[in-house]
Amino acid sequence: MEEEITYPYINSYLSKILKYSDPLLNEMEEYAAKNHIPIVQPESARILSVICNISKPKRILEVGTAIGYSSIILSNSMHKNGIIDTIELDEDMAERAREYIVRAGLDRKIRILQGDAAEVLQCLSTPYDFIFLDAAKGQYIEFLPFCLRLLNPGGVFVTDNVLYKGMVAKDGIVKHKHRTIIVNLREYLQSLCQNPDLNTSIVPVGDGIAICVKNEDKKENFT
Ligand code: SAM
Repeated sequence: MEEEITYPYINSYLSKILKYSDPLLNEMEEYAAKNHIPIVQPESARILSVICNISKPKRILEVGTAIGYSSIILSNSMHKNGIIDTIELDEDMAERAREYIVRAGLDRKIRILQGDAAEVLQCLSTPYDFIFLDAAKGQYIEFLPFCLRLLNPGGVFVTDNVLYKGMVAKDGIVKHKHRTIIVNLREYLQSLCQNPDLNTSIVPVGDGIAICVKNEDKKENFT
């Protein structure tokens, strides 16, 4: 059964009071809604922004750009000299993100890496202080070792949609079309929670967000 992960009236209230009033972000929200592009939900966007604000990362990696909405939000909270590398598979989507990022005046701070994260992640080697994973949910488990390898000690790792409309936490029968995603997400969350080098929390807002901090004393890279 597909459903929201908290009470709809709470979601609706939070969405309203946490909504950004920036005209460009509002235009992007409208474009995303009209074109069925799944950008981060307002409650989750705010958590992302607050965590970024606290940790003030200089180097951010995002996996899953879409139209650049969350990249722009992150750029407003990162270190003043911060940069963002963001990976997007879809060429048209990357082009649309480029247009919005230029309009936001952020093209010197946000670099779009157009390609399949499964390949792009293998080519990156300079570590990041903050990683936001928000691409195909079924592939999170595949991307995890690369993300952990690229995360600095003390770095923050945020993943969106980890409860997938509540289905990840539900016992019982799962519709066939969702089965692989759910099995993979459960394995993904187990891996995060059991990893002794991560301090992990899972927050049931939006579609579920996992927030991890990599231990400061973790010097060698994960493989
Ligand atoms: N982070 C964006 C935001 O909140 O504004 C939303 C990202 S949307 C949920 C997921 C994006 O990941 C889609 O645009 C999709 O094309 C992209 N994507 C899916 N699989 C990918 C892959 N293997 N490599 C790179 N991007 C991928």
